[in-house]
Amino acid sequence: MNGRSGKFASAFIYSEELANFEYSSTHPFKPIRAKLTLDLCSRYNLIERPWIRVVKPQPLSFEILAEFHDEAYLKTLQAVDPAATANELFSDVTHNPRGGSLAIDPKMLEYELGTEDNPIFSRVYDYAALTSGATFMGAKMVAAGEVQVAFNPVGGFHHAGRNHAEGFCYVNDVAVTITQLLKEGLRVAFVDIDAHHGNGVQDAFYRDKRALVISLHETGRDIYPWSGFENEIGEGQGRGYNVNVPLPQKTDDEAFLRAFEEIVPPLLDAYAPDMVIAELGADTHIADPLTYLSMTNHGYCQAVKKLAEHAPRILALGGGGYDIYKTARSWTLAWAILNNLEPRDEYVGIIGGMMFGPEIEAGDLYDKTVYTTGVVKERINREIDRIIEYIKQNVFPIHKI
Ligand SMILES: [Zn+2]
Repeated sequence: MNGRSGKFASAFIYSEELANFEYSSTHPFKPIRAKLTLDLCSRYNLIERPWIRVVKPQPLSFEILAEFHDEAYLKTLQAVDPAATANELFSDVTHNPRGGSLAIDPKMLEYELGTEDNPIFSRVYDYAALTSGATFMGAKMVAAGEVQVAFNPVGGFHHAGRNHAEGFCYVNDVAVTITQLLKEGLRVAFVDIDAHHGNGVQDAFYRDKRALVISLHETGRDIYPWSGFENEIGEGQGRGYNVNVPLPQKTDDEAFLRAFEEIVPPLLDAYAPDMVIAELGADTHIADPLTYLSMTNHGYCQAVKKLAEHAPRILALGGGGYDIYKTARSWTLAWAILNNLEPRDEYVGIIGGMMFGPEIEAGDLYDKTVYTTGVVKERINREIDRIIEYIKQNVFPIHKI
């Protein structure tokens, strides 16, 4: 593969400021994965190309965030920021008569702020506004035809609700951005291959057919957010426009790809969106510490390839991935695929594998494929067959497939 040519252009959305935010030293969500990814992409000669730009994001305005989110929630998020100096906003929404620590304020509990998952850290509001700004910027560039591919690694906060934080997500950049794209009259498909169900995005557009929302994830029987079952297919006008593919524990590349190929391409082709937003969480990896799937970056890459084939214009978002080096590898491979490039290590043997040891041992970025076998695999196959059949019977006819 020799890369893209002709009119093709792409944008890697990145700033040091965004990558350097930290929830806490022990929190599993690490924005620094964006820096690891950009470094790895540079090392594999996936950035210095004439059609590729690295673009610095700008924070999204309060007004645009508030077109999806509840204002009182956003104001509390601003006010709890330890770095915020002017706290007039704080007094009216979260007055604490005991004068005690903010961490016990009842309003914060209601908003799920200050919890172990969603800690309050310095400039947390700025972080949320900047992550959304990055996603929105990518969407605008793609919508305008300025680029055909954009990637925001620190994006895909698919758990945040209209009026609360959840699952490491303060502001739902996906829902905020889709809300704006719908105002422009665009048809949008959101395809989420993060290991967790995209519950916040599902809730945002559950009764809306202007956005097709598809999520493949580890079953909610076993992991957070305990939702995303196949029978959650949307309601009212939105019936048939919300699609969930819950995957059993130990689902491997082969089983995942069968489900993906049976469900996603036919729906994308039938829906014919103006733009695809793809959440490319890398926490489906067998090594991920928070999930129980058994995928490698082979299955991940095949899914990204299929997506690219069925989505002429695509905004990719990072999402989860809690083995940070394996996540950087998956995202690097995704970026290569979206740019039609084959990653080649320009420096192998010169700077060595200091930061990315594992791929030096393997000789490249790819994992060895792992297969689940025996009765476990048989059970997975039966369950996946059942899910595919359910969706073909209940969702496909709505799309005349
Ligand atoms: Zn996840």
